[in-house]
Amino acid sequence: QVVTRFAPSPTGFLHIGGARTALFNWLYAKRHGGRFLLRIEDTDRERSTQGAIDAILDGMRWLGLDWDGDVTYQFARAPRHREIAEELLAKGKAYRCYASAQELEEMRETARAEGRPPRYDGRWRDRDASEAPAGVAPVIRLKTPQEGETAIEDAVQGRVVFPNKDIDDFVLLRSDGAPTYMLAVVVDDHDMGVTQIIRGDDHLTNAARQKHIYDALGWEAPRLAHIPLIHGPDGAKLSKRHGALGVDAYRAMGYLPAALRNYLLRLGWSQGDREFFSTQEMIEAFDLESIHRSPARFDFVKLENMNGHYLRSSEDAELLAELIATLPYLEGGAALAARLDETRKAQLAAAMPGLKARAKTLNELIDGAAFLFAERPLTLDAKAAVLLSPAARAHLSVLTEKLATLEEWSAAATENIVRETAAAQGVKLGDLAQPLRAALTGRTTSPGIFDVLAILGEEESLARLRDQAA
Ligand code: GLU
Repeated sequence: QVVTRFAPSPTGFLHIGGARTALFNWLYAKRHGGRFLLRIEDTDRERSTQGAIDAILDGMRWLGLDWDGDVTYQFARAPRHREIAEELLAKGKAYRCYASAQELEEMRETARAEGRPPRYDGRWRDRDASEAPAGVAPVIRLKTPQEGETAIEDAVQGRVVFPNKDIDDFVLLRSDGAPTYMLAVVVDDHDMGVTQIIRGDDHLTNAARQKHIYDALGWEAPRLAHIPLIHGPDGAKLSKRHGALGVDAYRAMGYLPAALRNYLLRLGWSQGDREFFSTQEMIEAFDLESIHRSPARFDFVKLENMNGHYLRSSEDAELLAELIATLPYLEGGAALAARLDETRKAQLAAAMPGLKARAKTLNELIDGAAFLFAERPLTLDAKAAVLLSPAARAHLSVLTEKLATLEEWSAAATENIVRETAAAQGVKLGDLAQPLRAALTGRTTSPGIFDVLAILGEEESLARLRDQAA
């Protein structure tokens, strides 16, 4: 059975690259009827925070990336990691190293002077424990092969070869008994039955080291897929301005989880030119072969357009539910949420077809709905104020009194009156409809004006018009 995992370190938010890694692992597991596990790598006690853990779990849930079974917390497994370090020691595959901080610094200095990467020189590899200096707590290091090379077979990168002279006897267990990332990851992946690792290619060199731990333990290593990192639109490392944000920021900007999933899928994976994939379609299509070998570039415009597509193709009722659920997270949304009574919910529902046609994000959508939440008398924006000339206000007065005689208030009925009035006043429809929009919404853009009349209802519409008509 296929088992994948997502293994974030809870030292910050669930950033966009992590979310894509999680999605790929989730899709691969679903594609193969396997399991997708979540492991929080909280061994770095200084930098791991509960806030970050919550943000990761919350972000995964929001993106719909549900994991199987309980979350594994790596720190809680430290006794197991120590046990394996001891086992390697007992098998002669690892050794205690008593090199002092000063000795290690000297090794680094020498490496720097010779212009090569720092490397532990293996000075305790063959020494006897009886030579151990008193009062020095040792670390445990893995005995790695000193000659030859280590080859990694990677589904994305192909065969990658590392000369063993570049891989030193790295630390498995620190002097305080804390396992290193290198050891913990291997032991956890093994114990969790992980069969396929998909992660960022910044871990590729770690893979070579981890292979030596698997070999020393006689364990079968999971298959590997190291995916290129996400870059900014300029090809440089992804910066905040260019999208290196937490998933929560995308929620606050009003992106739909389904749209973000689709965008993340296409960020470094493609089959032909096809852009849109429903979740079911992604599961059916996902494969490691179609992951790109070169870094994807993050493109906000494309994400926005994709989100607009998802907004327009959402069912009105579903979209309303999504909007209401997301409102507290949206910029300025909390204030609106507080004022969302049943009347406004019904108005929003009625306005949804017009609103979603004009918006690319939920933020734009609530901005378009601002007229529903506006308090009388409305504050007009500058362009709207210009439309309400004395002549326009006079026409509006006539219109208002005609509308007041309507027996049945509907978009069609109000449209008839507006058309008749424009004709009777000898003005073009637009010359009446534009000031009408300004008076009803305070703006020059809105959903269709007759829909606005219908949604606001007779009482509120007439009141807003009388506020301006004077
Ligand atoms: N915890 C590591 C990270 O967040 C990932 C380890 C792995 O995927 O093997 O970068």
